[in-house]
Amino acid sequence: MKDTLGRSIDYLRISITDRCNLRCEYCMPAGGVPVRPHDEILRYEEIERLALVARSLGFEHFRITGGEPLARRGSAAFIGRFAGRLAGSDVALTTNGVLLAPVAAQLRGAGLGRVNVSLDTLDSAKFARLTRRDLWAEAWAGIEESLAVGFDPVKVNVVLIKGFNDDEIHAFADLTAGRPLHVRFIELMPLGEGTGMPEGFMSADEATATLERSGGLVPLAGAGVPAGAGPAESYRWRGGLGTVGFISALSHMFCDRCNRLRLTADGRLLPCLAGGEHFDLRGPLRDGAGDDQLAAVFRLAVEAKPASHHMADAPAEAGRVRRMSRIGG
Ligand code: SAM
Ligand code: SF4
Repeated sequence: MKDTLGRSIDYLRISITDRCNLRCEYCMPAGGVPVRPHDEILRYEEIERLALVARSLGFEHFRITGGEPLARRGSAAFIGRFAGRLAGSDVALTTNGVLLAPVAAQLRGAGLGRVNVSLDTLDSAKFARLTRRDLWAEAWAGIEESLAVGFDPVKVNVVLIKGFNDDEIHAFADLTAGRPLHVRFIELMPLGEGTGMPEGFMSADEATATLERSGGLVPLAGAGVPAGAGPAESYRWRGGLGTVGFISALSHMFCDRCNRLRLTADGRLLPCLAGGEHFDLRGPLRDGAGDDQLAAVFRLAVEAKPASHHMADAPAEAGRVRRMSRIGG
């Protein structure tokens, strides 16, 4: 589908829960998010139906995210089923990895192709501080198991936080040396709890320069870029097996290349990550709407996509509106 600016919209990010088993400082309040009544959250069959409607409109890429998707009861079975129903489309998962190792083989076997694991530090004590949970070893096991069962690519998402992990940029890049891991450094966005951390912002350019100064960072193009690289600038680091990428949502807006809509756990369709309107799908879905009526809601959301977000010029406003755990990053 084309939006009013001629952008092709073919990527749906689906949050299946806004709860999480971690409390990353930039994402979740220490006490978690208020628990929503069960019936406000889309059932798995409802999510599947909406994804199939999206696919009939030309959506080709689907990502299951959250909150922590694997923390929702029955999620591994659902994700497997979902990957099977959407076989032929690109289906991926974003997770903090903590619950991934025990279900990785099951998910791979069911047809899930690729995973992104979010990990902001290689130091377990720092992890416990940032996430308020002592679960680094479990998250790391999730990454190792993802490689072992053959997900391709396996990406590691690292949110850059000045004063916290800016001293680990080389260590993260070195992970790509002996393993086909794709490390992507992401700018901290002023959304949700991230609005309170302006001093933690580090630009993707600064991180790139840190590696460039040491030599050995080679830009990649074409076939060398891992699948689903989207807005990341990709590099090979010192001839490693994997790649290093930088995503600068804030300093170099890539809204002109935006191809996505987001579906929240409670069934709203969001044209943009930050701020703006939303379109309810849960109501019509439960009122017996036909696929064509649901498709019409997708069309409205595509038409409503703004030219760009306003996180850089009006961060407080953009951040107040949206919490990442609710919209899935
Ligand atoms: N719980 C899963 C995880 O952490 O991968 C999936 C949901 S999480 C909201 C998705 C991504 O959003 C994670 O990579 C997380 O680091 C990122 N994220 C959350 N808040 C952010 C913020 N304020 N700025 C940048 N990235 C953020
Ligand atoms: Fe949970 Fe992911 Fe948010 Fe961390 S970033 S609190 S793991 S939803």
